[in-house]
Amino acid sequence: EKLFSGFSKTRNNLAVVDELLLYWNLSESDRVLDELEEALLVADFGPKISFKIVDTLRDDILAGKLKSGSQIKEALKKSVLDLLTSKAKKTELQLGFRKPAVIMVVGVNGGGKTTSIGKLAHRLKNEGAKILMAAGDTFRAAASEQLEVWAERTGSEIVVADGEKVKAQSVLSQAVKRGKEQGYDIVLCDTSGRLHTNYSLMEELIACKKAVGKVVSGAPNEILLVLDGTTGLNMLPQAREFNEVVGITGLILTKLDGSARGGCVVSVVDELGIPVKFVGVGEGVDDLQPFDAEAFVNAIFS
Ligand code: GDP
Repeated sequence: EKLFSGFSKTRNNLAVVDELLLYWNLSESDRVLDELEEALLVADFGPKISFKIVDTLRDDILAGKLKSGSQIKEALKKSVLDLLTSKAKKTELQLGFRKPAVIMVVGVNGGGKTTSIGKLAHRLKNEGAKILMAAGDTFRAAASEQLEVWAERTGSEIVVADGEKVKAQSVLSQAVKRGKEQGYDIVLCDTSGRLHTNYSLMEELIACKKAVGKVVSGAPNEILLVLDGTTGLNMLPQAREFNEVVGITGLILTKLDGSARGGCVVSVVDELGIPVKFVGVGEGVDDLQPFDAEAFVNAIFS
């Protein structure tokens, strides 16, 4: 329901599709497909995906495979679903067999990293895991306190920097060591998110990744990139850069309860081939859901 209401704007942008297809006939095919492409662009699918979808529909119409407006609508939904699922299959967390599993959460400030870690801790604890948090955002003063609130709220333990100049990588390394010694199942690592164009952040993330890998071989098991769902196509260059530098294994899309722009999700998944693992649909502890591509497609098309 929250996903559905969050995508009301995207659905409005795409409502024109229904009108177009209601009166669809072959002789007007070109005009209708042009307008359909325009609607996808407005809904933030981006030029590449919009063109790709419409081109496939055109071929199928010309080949006589799609004969009515409703068939075209179903084919449209299916092609979006395929784009979301064909390259990026592993939507469940891949935590390996060594303990503790390490999940690093990265992304720019304000996207929802800390909140997502809190919600993720709640979800994983409910599945029976013993959770340790690591306050690796040593740059923003309030970040550790904010994570401590989430640790308390979810009944998780937390490792924070024990001095002002402590580096992020040493907090994470310390947390993973403690996780290993004290039998934790999962260490959830927060990281800094100052502007992604700031190279030293990327260096820090690389150092964090190396540091946890030295403590537990194969760690981090997941590097989840948090993307603010309301930023539309602006999320694409961000996702590209984080992926090039640290290698992202999954996406968490936040604020899908707000006025999220749905189409860009399809662009990011298609371009990077990285699965969306969770979606954030609110600020509460229960507001993180596993990504369900079918529910997503149904929420953006009425
Ligand atoms: P960080 O800087 O990346 O750690 O971002 P925060 O976790 O501090 O989140 C920034 C703001 O976004 C906070 O006010 C959060 O409550 C809010 N937020 C995070 N996720 C969601 C979400 O899924 N839905 C909504 N509505 N707000 C969210």
